Amino acid sequence: MIRQAVIMAAGLGSRLKERTAAMPKGFLEFDGVPIIEMSVRKLIAAGVEEIVIGTGHCSEAFDALSRRYGCITLVKNEEYASTGSMYTLSRCAERIRGDFLLLESDLIYDSIGLRVLINDPHRDAILASGATNSGDEVYLECDEGHFLRGNSKRREELGSVYGELVGISKLTKDTVRKMIEHMGRNMGSAPKMDYEAALSYVSSRCSPVFVRKVEFYTWCEIDDESHLERARKTVYPHVRENEEIRRVRREVLLNPGPATTTDSVKEAQVQTDICPREHEFGDVMEWVADELALMVGAPGRVKAVLFGGSGTAGDEVMISSCIPDGSKTLIVNNGAYGKRLAKIADIYGLEYDEFVSDGTLPLDAEAVKRRISSGGYTHLVIVYHETTTGLLNPVPEICRHCKANGVTTIVDAVSAFCAVPIDMDEDGIDFMSSTSNKNIQGMAGLAFVFCRTEALESIKPYPMRNYYLNLYDQHAYFERTHQTRFTPPVQTYYALRQAIIEAKVETIEGRYSRYTACWRILIEGLERMGLRYLVPVEAQSRLIVTVCNPESERYDFETMHDFMRDNGFTIYPGKLSDRPTFRIANIGDIQPEEMSRFIDLLKTYLDEING
Ligand code: PLP
Repeated sequence: MIRQAVIMAAGLGSRLKERTAAMPKGFLEFDGVPIIEMSVRKLIAAGVEEIVIGTGHCSEAFDALSRRYGCITLVKNEEYASTGSMYTLSRCAERIRGDFLLLESDLIYDSIGLRVLINDPHRDAILASGATNSGDEVYLECDEGHFLRGNSKRREELGSVYGELVGISKLTKDTVRKMIEHMGRNMGSAPKMDYEAALSYVSSRCSPVFVRKVEFYTWCEIDDESHLERARKTVYPHVRENEEIRRVRREVLLNPGPATTTDSVKEAQVQTDICPREHEFGDVMEWVADELALMVGAPGRVKAVLFGGSGTAGDEVMISSCIPDGSKTLIVNNGAYGKRLAKIADIYGLEYDEFVSDGTLPLDAEAVKRRISSGGYTHLVIVYHETTTGLLNPVPEICRHCKANGVTTIVDAVSAFCAVPIDMDEDGIDFMSSTSNKNIQGMAGLAFVFCRTEALESIKPYPMRNYYLNLYDQHAYFERTHQTRFTPPVQTYYALRQAIIEAKVETIEGRYSRYTACWRILIEGLERMGLRYLVPVEAQSRLIVTVCNPESERYDFETMHDFMRDNGFTIYPGKLSDRPTFRIANIGDIQPEEMSRFIDLLKTYLDEING
């Protein structure tokens, strides 16, 4: 698996004269986006977790970029004016942990090239194209097995030409080490060594590098004015079209999960077949669990334990594994999901009381706290965000009170996690469930239970009430074997990995701001149309709105649903037996412009039924 990339961006770009006097070449813009930023986005979409950029000329220009993308690490080549790209690579190599992608910064390229290299069975491979006639070609010579033997800008220096160097490669740490050794031996005579010269040397002597040629690959490098013109007129429009036609048809899900996903999350599911008992897949599962845990606690404070299953599986894991016999539990029930938690407790024969509250009104935290203090409870069970209505419960306030009173807290955060900022230590939460297909924006199929580390250890002696859903057994088995007890949903894991990469780039705060922007458009639009919602604005989660049905006699949810679906939006019926409602969720990969389009469609439908 390729987890890192290096972009070499130290050069002066002197052939572009005044354009690059005060900025690196990578900041040339197309459609308002710097080409290096386009490259960063393509790498993230290809599943790269960390991008190291080797800077030099105008290095400060990269600071804002690295602030925008938390996955970027900047490494400066202080000697950029007197050294070449090989020296920049050697500086970046200190950050490299395994196989990685290496790119030049001044490329316009079709993202399919990244997939081609990632998929290639050779661990060392460089991308080549057929003839571009760009006027600045780096020609490649290969042996009969298509392994690199030499490169040159002058055809006549090579015995034969197999293809042209694109400037994107996949390399092992070991090959780079050999390239650096070669550079070290030649620093006196060739301080400005290009990385491709070192690569050709190493490939022809000790570490064969495969040349993966795509005859009609769409790409260009921008070194001078004529390249820039060619890029603007032909290459960039071609790349855009290629990437556009590969997009998956857009369907905006306004149901409360599974949520709309990015194309890159969908594509992440398509991977080489792998037995989940391989160590490599254990690493994927471990990375996913560790990164999820870091979203809700400081390093080392929380463990995430994953199960194949939906959100309810996570809830059942907690109720069945974390409450021992002889406990006394209070379950807050102010909606369908609180009620479901009580149902699970019933099935396991647990002793509990319910704190019932109207799901359309803010939960009275003081009353819950009084009940906990006076009732002799050992455990509290509560839903963070009641998806039935869109009501956000005051979980931190209640759970902190529980902690102060020695009560174990169990929270269903299925539809709150990764939107509402949570710190389990600070918020007093011991166990918390969520799922891969809600705000984290992955695919359905994985339930997770977050556990404060001490809380997890405390349940170790509890006898198992079930087999598949046992929390401690699942955790202990993975710690011992780097495998799960039962077959994990492999493709869902890969999609979740990609979703985590994307969530880290956006940040949880950034995601909640985007959701909030969509929610604001939604409620303002509803108000303009005279529609009412169930929960007062102050108590709304900003993740879902339960809307009272329009009063028109011609209103029919199914007709409205079908009209919306025909226009690319999926909406959801209400879940309350006593009040006629429908629900609009704004979680997932949804942009504010899409919510505005939905509001326009809703107005069209209402105008139609209101005559
Ligand atoms: N808990 C809450 C708060 C939910 O919103 C949901 C689903 O929407 C669930 C539990 C159950 O999740 P699933 O349908 O994935 O089992």
